[in-house]
Amino acid sequence: MSVQTKETFEVKGVIRKEYEMVINGVRVVSSNGETMAIYNPATNEVIATVPKATKEDAEKAVQAAREAFDHGKWRHFPVNKRSRIINKMAAIMRKRFHELVELEVLNTGKSLTTAQGQVMQAIEDFEFYAGAIVGHRGQVNNVPGAFLNYTRKEPVGVCAQIIPWNYPLMMAAWKVAPAIAAGCSIVLKPASLTPLTAIVLTEICQEAGVPNGVVNIVTGAGATVGDYLVEHEQVNKVAFTGSTEIGKNIMQKASSTLKRVTLELGGKSPNIVFQDADIESAVNGSLFGIFYNTGQSCEARSRLYVQEDIYDAFMEKFVERTKQLRLGNPMDQTTQVGSIISRSQLETIDAYVQSAKEEGATIVTGGCEVKIEGFEKGHWYAPTIITNVTHDMKVVQEEIFGPVVVVMPFKTEKEAIQLANDTQYGLGSAIWTTDQARATRVANQIEAGIVMVNCPFSAFPGTPFGGYKQSGFGRELCVETLDLYTEDKSILSYYGARPLNPLGV
Ligand code: NAP
Ligand code: MG
Repeated sequence: MSVQTKETFEVKGVIRKEYEMVINGVRVVSSNGETMAIYNPATNEVIATVPKATKEDAEKAVQAAREAFDHGKWRHFPVNKRSRIINKMAAIMRKRFHELVELEVLNTGKSLTTAQGQVMQAIEDFEFYAGAIVGHRGQVNNVPGAFLNYTRKEPVGVCAQIIPWNYPLMMAAWKVAPAIAAGCSIVLKPASLTPLTAIVLTEICQEAGVPNGVVNIVTGAGATVGDYLVEHEQVNKVAFTGSTEIGKNIMQKASSTLKRVTLELGGKSPNIVFQDADIESAVNGSLFGIFYNTGQSCEARSRLYVQEDIYDAFMEKFVERTKQLRLGNPMDQTTQVGSIISRSQLETIDAYVQSAKEEGATIVTGGCEVKIEGFEKGHWYAPTIITNVTHDMKVVQEEIFGPVVVVMPFKTEKEAIQLANDTQYGLGSAIWTTDQARATRVANQIEAGIVMVNCPFSAFPGTPFGGYKQSGFGRELCVETLDLYTEDKSILSYYGARPLNPLGV
């Protein structure tokens, strides 16, 4: 990917005023004609409208997906043909890269470079699963005598996929790519705040030759449309990314029809800096770990533990660089931190910071809303560092989902591990040390699905992403995800010459 410079990223005005849903390959408005306004959170201006789906629309989408799965061709295509079509989707996305980036920035207020990286990863996710599905196969098992047992990987059926607003296109890719590769049909429900790139993605599915009904999208409130999908008898699986609270609710509701469930939920990921760390890398990685995507990441490393011998030296650099982070026009190549997704999210973040103050913590920098020239009506929050915290404080235990980090010193390796694991969550974690033995020891003891060692990044296509404890279950982005969209059918046959008569009748 050639990196665009400030001068060369041209806002082309690709956004349409009105978007439709895609149900059974047809672009449709909602059954009652209602729409939802979509905002640019950096300016708080309405940028488009999308249909506000009703339960009737969700029902139509489920029926389209059901028909495509039960009587359609997609799941029966030779795997190479599915792979070819998914690669074609990726090729179209590459061609429309600029448009997808522009839409993503407009709809989320995230910085241009952040959006570029995420759109590129979404493309690579499709390429990854186009390849991975070709090698995804059943096996022959050892059984006695004249028996043969083999397994087939069969698609689970119709999947409801419900995604959040923090990475709109990337989350859609994490869900859609493995599901259609496996031969499933989908009803995708994007977050109400950020449906635009997911809608365009479903249009791209049609353009690439994914048959009608295989990928449907409904844009509407989670509480009505999402809930309807989760309860629906003819939906076989629900894949959800979002808050732990809604995740628990979904698991409960899905139990009435024993749907397959995968949940990718919240986190409060620890970031441990040992005294033998390369300080420059640790400071830069810790900044990225919390302030990337304006802290609105499930794997945001929001609890920073620094060994006491280097605490002051580390903090001097960490605080100084936090103050220097550039907030500003999200379309500008040099902007490092974008806006917050909504007023209500900003208020949630600020309430956490205020609670920390009331409990006696120190706000070292940030801790307030900021006004950005030219974006005065948008939702902007200063990158915030909090110290002098105790481990029972809300800001230490609860997910804030904003640019706020709590920092604590620690003495020993044992203490660092104990503090890191003192949480209901278990998604990400990071360790900074030049001692390989220590890195391995600590990585083995951390209760989290992901450990980053001297590394600011949590995942690439191919690496498992998912949580321990109340961060959910099921791994996405990897080969194993295909197992979550397939059932293993065991076929046991007898080929002996002598007829079997097990009851001796
Ligand atoms: P959320 O409320 O869990 O929403 C995520 C998705 O679920 C959205 O598409 C939402 O639709 C839908 N939904 C809401 N209620 C539902 C229900 N009863 N049944 C089925 N689907 C439902 O998350 P959020 O409001 O976007 O953000 C709130 C908090 O969630 C954040 O502050 C953060 O703590 C956490 N979060 C975590 C992640 C992550 O990646 N782990 C991502 C985003 C947010 P609507 O948009 O229409 O409500
Ligand atoms: Mg919500």
